[in-house]
Amino acid sequence: MPARTGAQFLKGLQGDREVWLDGEQVTNVVEHTSLSGAAHALAEVYDLQHEHADCCLMPDPETGENINVSHLIPHSVEDLRQRHACLEKIAEYSVGLMGRTPDYLNVTYAGFAGRAEEWAINGNEQGAENLVDYQKKLRREDLSLTHTLVQPTIDKALGDAPHAGNTVALRKIGDTANGIIVSGARVLSTLAPFADELAVYPGHPLPEGADDYALSFCIPMSTPGLKFICRDSCSRPSNLFDYPLSHRFDEQDAFVIFDRVEIPRDRIHIDCNLEVYNFVMSQSWWQNIMQQTTVRALTKLEFAWGIATRMVDVINANQPPTLQMLGEIWSYVEMTRACLTAAVEGAKDAGNGVWLPDSRPFSAIRATMPGWMLRVNEIIRQVGSHNIFTTPSRGELDDPGLRPLIDHYLTGAGDVDAETRARVFRLGWDFAGSALAIRNEQYERFYLGSSSRNYVVAQTSADRTRAERLVDRFLQEEIS
Ligand SMILES: Cc1cc2nc3c(=O)[nH]c(=O)nc-3n(C[C@H](O)[C@H](O)[C@H](O)COP(=O)(O)OP(=O)(O)OC[C@H]3O[C@@H](n4cnc5c(N)ncnc54)[C@H](O)[C@@H]3O)c2cc1C
Repeated sequence: MPARTGAQFLKGLQGDREVWLDGEQVTNVVEHTSLSGAAHALAEVYDLQHEHADCCLMPDPETGENINVSHLIPHSVEDLRQRHACLEKIAEYSVGLMGRTPDYLNVTYAGFAGRAEEWAINGNEQGAENLVDYQKKLRREDLSLTHTLVQPTIDKALGDAPHAGNTVALRKIGDTANGIIVSGARVLSTLAPFADELAVYPGHPLPEGADDYALSFCIPMSTPGLKFICRDSCSRPSNLFDYPLSHRFDEQDAFVIFDRVEIPRDRIHIDCNLEVYNFVMSQSWWQNIMQQTTVRALTKLEFAWGIATRMVDVINANQPPTLQMLGEIWSYVEMTRACLTAAVEGAKDAGNGVWLPDSRPFSAIRATMPGWMLRVNEIIRQVGSHNIFTTPSRGELDDPGLRPLIDHYLTGAGDVDAETRARVFRLGWDFAGSALAIRNEQYERFYLGSSSRNYVVAQTSADRTRAERLVDRFLQEEIS
């Protein structure tokens, strides 16, 4: 099947799945009050690839059918530029608020399949072959994936990785004629209600003896024993005027329980193979996926700059302290853009003809970005001041008695009418202050590990050659 339409995507969500929200098992994610906004938004993402086919679609290398460009396995800088254009188009739809639109895992699995030899070590040739086959299925059936990498936190002092005997973390508990049985739990499955399948691949490295936890596979959401417990919804169902963002962009996050789940043999990519599990994520995954996440982050920052600037214009608040804060957001935008350019233009052949962006700019931006995202929200609330709350709703604007008063008392500067003013500040609050905004702050802090960990990785993986040469000059010179 070639690239799907939104209607085909929504039809695919009608199948069985055990998704819990607000204490109830959801029977229909497309029609549920708190989920339908995001389901239809994602359907529009599927439609968008057809509306912008020149940028978003390409022929499948084997079948020739149209598939999304996010499935591209890059073989040149030009391919990475082409992928950038498609990722940007998708990110623009949700102005970067949906971090896990299907392109995220499309890029991930294209990266894995392009470097399948990294998965084929230590006797895992069959797992690597299954993975390559799965990526073909993913791109041809245009599936929506959710994923879960991290074991639940029960006792932080015991470390990140499960040790033998841990019955909370996801592990293999037996074999069957058709595959394996797994049990346990994992966090966190963003997009779960809107996914066709669930992907499990390595998170934190595992210690010696934890072989049973070394698993990777992809299975349909309808697989018996799979249970998803969603966090409280941030969706505001009423209308797009009142909640322009949280009406449609709550992508949801869920805790996943695997209650004796059978994984068919052809869906297994790692079966208790510690060496492969600990190896694959340290190779090309990072710089590959960071292109998608940084394109999204750039889009969100640029949107934030646009909102903040518009809020200031509406009330003519262009004073130097305010302009300074706007300039600060703009600087984050341009530093992110420069990082993306440096990473793509500095891309290299990974050794088998697959091209990967330069990881250095991405290491720097990943650790720093959460701070910028939080600061941007702070600036929007700062420049918005009380104006962010003097925002009549659709119902109040439509009331014939109130409307003339609102038109007199709640306009903006110059010829900005009351309706425009309300829309601008509502957008600002929905972006930087609503329940969805706070969820998004948490997403930015943690979606690829915490800042602390990412700064540690940046420091320990950095090339010190030049810095050491600069320092050594002073430590080694003859002092007479
Ligand atoms: C909204 C959201 C959506 C997500 N979606 C997904 C998803 O779809 N799939 C998925 O697999 N994951 C997802 N994640 C990420 C994942 O589930 C974890 O949240 C993430 O890996 C960080 O978890 P952690 O508690 O291990 O973080 P940590 O890195 O342990 O950080 C937690 C806290 O501990 C501190 N800390 C870190 N290291 C140390 C240390 N050595 N000593 C002391 N303190 C330390 C940090 O500064 C931080 O304050 C998502 C997370 C969020 C918040």
